[in-house]
Amino acid sequence: TTRSSVASVNPYNNQVLGEFAAMSDEAVDFAVGAAHAAFLGWRQTTPADRAAIVGRAGELMLQRLDEFAQLVTLEMGKRITESRDEVRLAADIMRYYGERGPGFLADRPLPAEEGRVVVASRPLGTLLGIMPWNYPCYQVARFAAPNLVAGNTILLKHASNCPQSALALERLFRDAGVPPDGYVNIFVPGGKVGRIIENPLVRGVSLTGSDRAGASVAERAGRNIVKTVLELGGSDPFIVLDAEDLDRTIDAAVTARLSNMGQSCVSPKRFILLTEFFDRFVEGVRQRFAALVPGDPMDPATTLSPLSSEQAAETLVSQVRDTVAQGARLVSGGRRLDRPGAFVQATVLTDVRPGMRAYYEELFGPVAVVYRVANEDEAVGLANDNPYGLGASIFCRDLDRAGRLAERLDVGMVWINHPTSSRPELPFGGIKRSGYGRELSDLGIREFVNEKLIRAY
Ligand code: NAP
Repeated sequence: TTRSSVASVNPYNNQVLGEFAAMSDEAVDFAVGAAHAAFLGWRQTTPADRAAIVGRAGELMLQRLDEFAQLVTLEMGKRITESRDEVRLAADIMRYYGERGPGFLADRPLPAEEGRVVVASRPLGTLLGIMPWNYPCYQVARFAAPNLVAGNTILLKHASNCPQSALALERLFRDAGVPPDGYVNIFVPGGKVGRIIENPLVRGVSLTGSDRAGASVAERAGRNIVKTVLELGGSDPFIVLDAEDLDRTIDAAVTARLSNMGQSCVSPKRFILLTEFFDRFVEGVRQRFAALVPGDPMDPATTLSPLSSEQAAETLVSQVRDTVAQGARLVSGGRRLDRPGAFVQATVLTDVRPGMRAYYEELFGPVAVVYRVANEDEAVGLANDNPYGLGASIFCRDLDRAGRLAERLDVGMVWINHPTSSRPELPFGGIKRSGYGRELSDLGIREFVNEKLIRAY
């Protein structure tokens, strides 16, 4: 659904923290023009100049760690320790491109029979970034940092439920020295983004969010021949091939499933177990989920935080309810907590089969679906029988065996003996309905550049 206002609501107690008027079409057009004008100057600076500014933004972000972490927790409800980790990672990404960006962009001479050939990475212009609320700082950092270093300027349309984080990020880049219109926050509801993509001054669009939003943006962009990067949903498999250290594997599974209260694109959502240790795994997850302590996400002792909004909680509970009505087994959880706020019990489902809602849909919250398979081939078949193809993790001490399995998975990232995660130097992205393109690493800075060939005789 498209929200008509841009509002900050604390999902812990439904308190409205602030409301911001959506911008008029004229104001948005003006912002696009200003970002383009800023590009004409920004492109003339050197990558080293721009990298210094982006690196400074990373340092400033660390200085403002508490401010950012509190805003994130207030607006989307994640536990404060996780908010702090997110802000540190966002700062790391800025510092990474601050250090490495100019090297990635260096001119590349090519061998030629005659004369000189160079491929030069040059900016495209003004980019539109459309970002989600689940990691308000990290998502923006991984889009904005490389692209500012590359010489592009940015219009940032953040999710409608994290406007205060959005404004704090705009302030951060300005304070670090990005020209005032080089990074412009725009308050626009998702449903009105299409108009902006039509503007010929917008030269690229990057969206992180649902596949529904991604398809709508890519359609508009396609009609206007505008390059897109799409980082969409996921329903990552977590495959367990041996019972060696099963307790540690269960700990890793639970921690990863509950990271960001399950609202992460790369949180493992489908646990695939060989029959021999299926029961032990289900019981281990159930016990750990039962021990969670709900509470204020500002309190570091809380282990079960609310979801991002009332609507998110209702959607998740209805997905579980429908799946159980379709014949799945509810091992534990499945309901809202009897208290205010967007809380949902941590839930374990088994016996989920094709045709049930939880089989193909992404479950964006603390729900573990555990599948039982007879052998490795069945594990691969189940893992790949999904519209998404973002990440996967494999737990298996025999690294050759795990490596062979990794080859067979239709996903963009495989982690062995560790849940899928993100680091500045590692490419991040997926295939199928999880989208296309890569962020982070050297690949992330190449998505919106003109690889310009210059041949001189
Ligand atoms: P969402 O509804 O798609 O929202 C994401 C962003 O897209 C928001 O800024 C939203 O604006 C905007 N939007 C929504 N509909 C749009 C449309 N038709 N045209 C243009 N923009 C539109 O996503 P969500 O459900 O809040 O976020 C969770 C999803 O993001 C999950 O599927 C998750 O897996 C995915 N995700 C993927 C990655 C990745 O890297 N692959 C990372 C994190 C999250 P409004 O808020 O104004 O509606």
